[in-house]
Amino acid sequence: MNIKDYLECESLLLKMFKNLDFCFKSCSTTNKHGFMSLCTDNSNYYDIYMDKDTVGEVSKEFIAERVSIYGKPVNQTPKCGYLGEKGCRLETHRGPMCTGFACYPLEAHLRFVYFINYDTDEMIQSLSNVLTGKMTGKDLNNFKKELKLWVEKTEKKTKVLECVV
Ligand code: SF4
Repeated sequence: MNIKDYLECESLLLKMFKNLDFCFKSCSTTNKHGFMSLCTDNSNYYDIYMDKDTVGEVSKEFIAERVSIYGKPVNQTPKCGYLGEKGCRLETHRGPMCTGFACYPLEAHLRFVYFINYDTDEMIQSLSNVLTGKMTGKDLNNFKKELKLWVEKTEKKTKVLECVV
């Protein structure tokens, strides 16, 4: 069980996505509130990868922490119960699916503009492994290092791009 490290990785990924600001600026298919298509889907993505046998007690503790901070999801089917007017209400404690998801255009943007090889499926699995405590020690340190590097890269390059435009 490794909620603390998961939250650190989640925070780094959110920083990286914030640096890109891709959904607001570049996406023609999502609305302008910066949330993903999965947020309006009829599924509890915030709990996907968290309620399986492999996750067990972690999911209970993790979900309990989330509920104590943000409350229970409201029923607004088919929208996600944590989707607010300005996007996701969860600033932390999103599930691995919500934290790691990037659509194909975003993956391509990361690859061609920032030279970051981002694989959504791998990322979701890695986040799940961090949360469950399957990824530890050197592997966990390397994963965090890579995320930190991506935050730096996107921060620097976005500044350069802003100067050029
Ligand atoms: S928890 Fe947040 S990111 Fe995940 S589906 Fe709901 S609104 Fe979207």
